[in-house]
Amino acid sequence: MSDLDDLYRDVILDHFRNPRNRGTLEQADIRVEGVNPFCGDKISLTVKLENGLIREVRMDGNGCSISQASASMMTEALKGKTLSESQKLVQDFKHMMLEKGAAADLPEALEELAALEGVKKYPVRIKCAVLAWNTLLEGIRAFAENKGPVSSTHKEE
Ligand code: ZN
Repeated sequence: MSDLDDLYRDVILDHFRNPRNRGTLEQADIRVEGVNPFCGDKISLTVKLENGLIREVRMDGNGCSISQASASMMTEALKGKTLSESQKLVQDFKHMMLEKGAAADLPEALEELAALEGVKKYPVRIKCAVLAWNTLLEGIRAFAENKGPVSSTHKEE
């Protein structure tokens, strides 16, 4: 293991052990549950909007360190963003994880997510890393369709 691998592992374990924005918002505009049956990961997201911006976001769930750390890091990147900016962040992250994108291409808001680039070496774990992000996308899609507060679900396939 290189020093860089150690650093990245530390970032992931820190978010896994001390998840940021953990919990559930009572008055949420977006409420969405995601599951990754390939690993047993579960994520629930609640999002409160104000004037078109994400005012608060909470994550809860259980599963492997990659799924939970990725969700924790995602919540930190979303605060103060519009829903379309959030969709763009999801695309940027998924570009790194699923396509030929590199961590160096990530926008500043996602810098810490570079820690998950190593997961690309283990294709089955990529679903763990993208679970929270696909779950958020589903919540945003359902909210737009419903034009108001909504509950929705996502399943990795
Ligand atoms: Zn997992």
